[in-house]
Amino acid sequence: MKLIVTGGAGFIGSALTLHLLGEGHDVCVVDSFTYAANPDSLKPAEANPRFSLQKLDIRDVAKIADLVAATKADAILHLAAESHVDRSITGSAPFIDTNIVGTYSMLEAARGFWSTLKGEASKAFRFVHISTDEVYGSLGPEGFFVEDSPYDPSSPYSASKAAADHLVQAWQRTYGLPAIVANCSNNYGPRQFPEKLIPLTILNALSGKELPVYGDGLNVRDWLHVEDHARALYAILTKGRPGERYAIGARSERRNIDVVNAICDQLDKAAPKAHPHRQLIAFVKDRPGHDRRYAIDPSKIERELTWCPVYSFETGLAATVDWYIANPEWWEPLLKRL
Ligand code: NAD
Repeated sequence: MKLIVTGGAGFIGSALTLHLLGEGHDVCVVDSFTYAANPDSLKPAEANPRFSLQKLDIRDVAKIADLVAATKADAILHLAAESHVDRSITGSAPFIDTNIVGTYSMLEAARGFWSTLKGEASKAFRFVHISTDEVYGSLGPEGFFVEDSPYDPSSPYSASKAAADHLVQAWQRTYGLPAIVANCSNNYGPRQFPEKLIPLTILNALSGKELPVYGDGLNVRDWLHVEDHARALYAILTKGRPGERYAIGARSERRNIDVVNAICDQLDKAAPKAHPHRQLIAFVKDRPGHDRRYAIDPSKIERELTWCPVYSFETGLAATVDWYIANPEWWEPLLKRL
């Protein structure tokens, strides 16, 4: 297939790009290279003749439409977004612009091209929108998010993603665009920008800095390794049904404090400089609108698309800590942007 991946220079987009190239497809990455992008994340793809890169803002609908037509794309996997909840609280404008207007622009470009396709090509076209479980708001101590859980976003980030999900559904229902929405839980793994909990904690701990934990540290997230996410998105692309949504998670609920403790314990073994690392933990004022618990029931994607995660949280986290220790040249330049 000829595939377009928006946001392909980001954390999940780069992992997905490498996975799709590994499956033998042509991949054109579209990315405007915001602070969150790292061209080094795509280095392993550079020598592959099936890989290409376009520095383009997804809000530029005319240029995006030209690109989709020139690429003769079989599918678009749309990941480009502003993705950090804390930033959405201090400055929501780029979240509205990129996540909502940008998704509108991608949908219009996709619809324009798709409407020129005939027969099998028209039926086979896919627009896969990558979203989050945060659109569903917060869970109490019991229960799980499923595909038809009611939308109830709490942060400007999750509200902008919820708006984008609704646009995708509307383009599917109104125009028949063969679109699919994927709502996944918190990702972790190599090449994640060091403002997110896991890489932030690893890098602060490596340099003996405080490890900030919001509130009482008892907020629960459901962790998914980025390579398992990439495999899930590939299953959705190749086997998913247009008009459907799929909730993706690895049944790996952990309290934030337990995640930070696990990183500390792993670093005590792997990089014992600041041993014991748990002494660096500092509880800080909670984030406003901080959802208490997220947890996904992934039964639908497991059953219908025969996907299941390869990593347990323990093996995935240990591999992630080791990756950050081994790859300072990837993250050192990013620390200057924080
Ligand atoms: P990221 O911040 O690492 O990467 C986002 C990429 O999008 C960057 O390369 C950035 O340059 C690009 N981008 C931003 N604005 C753009 C624009 N206007 N035009 C073109 N490119 C632009 O994000 P991520 O963590 O890889 O997340 C990817 C997608 O997955 C997002 O849509 C996010 O909402 C969703 N998601 C992420 C998680 C997670 O845990 N990281 C969980 C669920 C869903």
